[in-house]
Amino acid sequence: MEYGEKILSFARLMYTDGLVAATSGNISVRLEDRPDCFAITPSSESYLTMTGDRIVVMNTDGTVLRCPADGKPSSEWRLHAELYKAKPEVKAIIHTHSRYATAFAVVRKKIPLILIEMQPWLGGDVPVSEYAPTGSQQLGINAARDLGDRGGCLLANHGVVAVGRDLNQAYARATYIEDAARIYHLALAVGDPVIIPMN
Ligand SMILES: [Zn+2]
Repeated sequence: MEYGEKILSFARLMYTDGLVAATSGNISVRLEDRPDCFAITPSSESYLTMTGDRIVVMNTDGTVLRCPADGKPSSEWRLHAELYKAKPEVKAIIHTHSRYATAFAVVRKKIPLILIEMQPWLGGDVPVSEYAPTGSQQLGINAARDLGDRGGCLLANHGVVAVGRDLNQAYARATYIEDAARIYHLALAVGDPVIIPMN
């Protein structure tokens, strides 16, 4: 399976780095030879025991092209599909429920530009996309719209989605979003965070 092992290595990293609990979160990659298709982690399977052949390949319209007989795509595949449809430059997507960032998503508060690495890595602040139920097409439509030109955004009352030109970039962005959320949380506890002007 061409994309399976790569997705799997990031899925395990996402789990061991504590960006997701149990089987939550999901990862996908757009197929190079078929831009309307993507490979995505399956629904409700342990990242520690998952094998590359469990990765599902599907079209952005929802047609499943490759899937184990006893498997199914992530229940949040529509989030990925809408982002791929809206943003041709996006080649990989990582969705986490990382703790500090999700706390800000729960209070629907964006993470402002407070750290120097946020501008080069994330394109600025981390916006919150409008709430929509998990698994819905609207969740993906809202995320694609509210993400704008940023590298990731918070999903209201849900978690984080980070996009990139490849899995390395999407993963780094998911990590930077959680790091920024943690530091912003600490900064709010000790004083008034100063926002950096955009260059
Ligand atoms: Zn989720």
